[in-house]
Amino acid sequence: MEKTIDEPPTSAVLLEHCSFSQVVFSSVEKFYVPGGDVTCYYSFTQQFVPRRKDWIGIFKVGWKTTREYYTFMWVALPSDLNKESTKQQEVQFKAYYLPKDDEHYQFCYVDQDGVVRGASIPFQFRPETEEDIVVVTTKGKVEEIEQHNEELLQENQELKDSCASLQKQNSDAQAELQSKQEALEALQSINKKLEQKMEEQKACWETELLQLKEYNQKISSENEKMGLRVEQLQAQLSTQQKEMEELVLRDQDKTEQLQRLKNENSQLVLSLTEQKEQKMKLEQTVENMKKKETMARKKQQELKDENFALSRTLSDNKIVSDVLKREKEKLERENDILKKENNRLVDYMGLHSDSSPDQTQSSDQGAGRQNPGLVYGNPYSGIQESSPPPSLHAAVHADKVREQTPKKQQMQISCLNCPVCGEVFPPTEEQVYEDHVFCHSL
Ligand SMILES: [Zn+2]
Repeated sequence: MEKTIDEPPTSAVLLEHCSFSQVVFSSVEKFYVPGGDVTCYYSFTQQFVPRRKDWIGIFKVGWKTTREYYTFMWVALPSDLNKESTKQQEVQFKAYYLPKDDEHYQFCYVDQDGVVRGASIPFQFRPETEEDIVVVTTKGKVEEIEQHNEELLQENQELKDSCASLQKQNSDAQAELQSKQEALEALQSINKKLEQKMEEQKACWETELLQLKEYNQKISSENEKMGLRVEQLQAQLSTQQKEMEELVLRDQDKTEQLQRLKNENSQLVLSLTEQKEQKMKLEQTVENMKKKETMARKKQQELKDENFALSRTLSDNKIVSDVLKREKEKLERENDILKKENNRLVDYMGLHSDSSPDQTQSSDQGAGRQNPGLVYGNPYSGIQESSPPPSLHAAVHADKVREQTPKKQQMQISCLNCPVCGEVFPPTEEQVYEDHVFCHSL
């Protein structure tokens, strides 16, 4: 409870256990003259230690709480407590602040906690009456004693009243204290609960704080990682951008190339069309050539057939020729023999007669006579054979004819004519002839 300079510390609690006797007031007058300053004398018992904000108040008798003071003064602290504790202290109340009525008042010492530590006997602010003085000065001892006794009784009655009120105050204060203590206990239990809760909350918060710290560390490490990753990604991005630029350049090149290729392609398509036309023409030409070839083949086949027939004829003729050759050789040998015989006969005749100029003729004649002696008749002189034996000249002539005629026939038979170009080949070169004819079919 904060207090201003003008407001002393007070308390609703008035009476503490055995606290009224800790400060003792002395030399308290019954009457103080109004308009004059009042000096209050007091002293501390040994167990009491005054404090800085203790004060002394003037209370109307019958007060219930220390808040009901009329006026007050701060207590001056003694410089050395140990020595001067028992020494008499004093405080002066200025006349201006004192009560102006003639009620009963008393001094009370209140410590800085608002607890009353001592109380004085009651007094009044009024001049002493003439009566009192007269009683003291003019009446006899009995009256004086009676008067004093009456005063004492009155004082006693007042003190009793004061005591009763104080006791009442005490019981009220104790009841209040009881309720306050109960309230305090309740508050303490609430406080304990709150403290427990607070500790629990504190533990909870600490674990939460730890978790948050760990989380924070995680987050910061992740953040670092993310930073690294971002740098990597940025590097990657820049390389990819470069690649992209290269690709764009390449794309442009390719596009140009493509354009060129398209142009080339269109040219090629044009040339292809031309070539197709040419091809068509060529195909037509080929078709014509094929037809011609087929015709040529047919013709060749015909020629081959003809050739084959001619070859067969030729081989037949060859056989005949061989036969004739052999016959000729035979005839030549016979002729030789006849010649020899003729010579022998000539020689023989020469021995018996002169040699005649037609010796040769006779020998020829002899040979002609020998002719019918042939084993096989001459096939080319059938007419001469059927005729009567010729004369010597005729025989010679026949011989000449016989020699000439077969030759011609032989030439006609054995010579080989090319059916295509008409070239003539001797019969001995039959192979050459066949190759030549074959060449035309190629
Ligand atoms: Zn030919």
